[in-house]
Amino acid sequence: MTPRLLLLLPTTTYRATAFVEAARQLGVELTVASERPSTMQATNPAGLVTLDFREPSRAAETVREFAKQNPITGVVGVDDDTAIVAAAIAERLHLKGNPIHAADAARDKHRQRELLAGSGVPVPHFELHMVAEDPERVARAVRYPCVLKPLRLSASRGVIRADNAKGFVAAHARLKAIVGEPDAGYLVEEFIPGYEVALEGLVVNRRLHVLAIFDKPDPLDGPFFEETIYVTPSMVPAALQKSIVECTERAVRALGITEGPIHAELRYNERGPWLIELAARPIGGRCSAVLRFGDTGISLEEIILRNALGMPIPSLEREPGAAGVMMIPIPGAGRLREVRGVAEAKAMPLVEDVQITAHPGEQLVPFPEGSRYPGFIFARGAQPGVVEAALRQAHARLQFVLDPV
Ligand code: ADP
Repeated sequence: MTPRLLLLLPTTTYRATAFVEAARQLGVELTVASERPSTMQATNPAGLVTLDFREPSRAAETVREFAKQNPITGVVGVDDDTAIVAAAIAERLHLKGNPIHAADAARDKHRQRELLAGSGVPVPHFELHMVAEDPERVARAVRYPCVLKPLRLSASRGVIRADNAKGFVAAHARLKAIVGEPDAGYLVEEFIPGYEVALEGLVVNRRLHVLAIFDKPDPLDGPFFEETIYVTPSMVPAALQKSIVECTERAVRALGITEGPIHAELRYNERGPWLIELAARPIGGRCSAVLRFGDTGISLEEIILRNALGMPIPSLEREPGAAGVMMIPIPGAGRLREVRGVAEAKAMPLVEDVQITAHPGEQLVPFPEGSRYPGFIFARGAQPGVVEAALRQAHARLQFVLDPV
């Protein structure tokens, strides 16, 4: 019987195409779960199911019923929220996946810090505070520089550095508006200076396989932490890379992650590596297009699907050479009228693609309130340095024309 994949796709994701394409490549049966009922459901009852992603256990029950008619072989979530739903479904249907507590721990920044600190994984000193608490009082007691961060947002939304009490109170006001719920908590952390890398991995039966380590050559010193360039392979010395991998392995174990993709952010300085965050999902946005594996250049999505379905994985070895992506910085606040220079940017040497994902008329919101990059630039070359330079040169060709809102 052909295996059937259940793919959990939030309506607002860039990732749908890559995953659906990978499923097609694999020739498996596909059921797409999304939050809103589709008019297509009547014509394609095995191919579509509606789930409330905010209620993982109810979603799991719906899938258990659905699977009586259409047996499911594997389940994959594509982002932070659906990773939890995938874990609940995997547990209920005895499929490959993470235990719910592990997916939850990866999602909740405070729970994650507690577990990591409790297992001796190096993490910044942290405190949990309530948004409703008097910020002046908190500001007097914390040590600077510090970082304020919401518990359950992603893509650096609402993550703000403060260097003194005045900055803390201002940052708190912005965070409060972003979080929008007065009874929510937030973290106040020690700011860890240093160089940041991202580690992309696949956990197979509790064992972490490193798929790529990305350098982030632009300094991320705040006050906001907008990502820009990711380049792999990392130029970090081998011994340090080893300690970065070991730190991530310990974090995977501490959180109880057993299966599937992880994306970790780490910093290192003279005190060694620091685990900033580990998510039980693949790299975000369209960035996964940077990674290709084996002789045939299979995609990250295909590897993730194969693992979830228990199909053999031909290779976890990234292709030779260097590759990189630039998450195009948000050019300012305003309504996007047009982007000039795209053809010139695409024509630059080593540049593989320039994808503008923002639509004309779309309102661009800078960090920390916003987090949607207006597009992505991809490049490949022999060395990380030339890839990085190509990304910068292509970006310099782009001109974003904004209308005031
Ligand atoms: P998110 O899940 O929203 O991306 P993170 O916790 O990963 O939130 O933080 C986003 C970015 O902010 C990190 O990649 C890092 O650059 C920066 N950052 C977060 N916490 C710290 C910290 N304690 N010290 C230094 N930088 C930090």
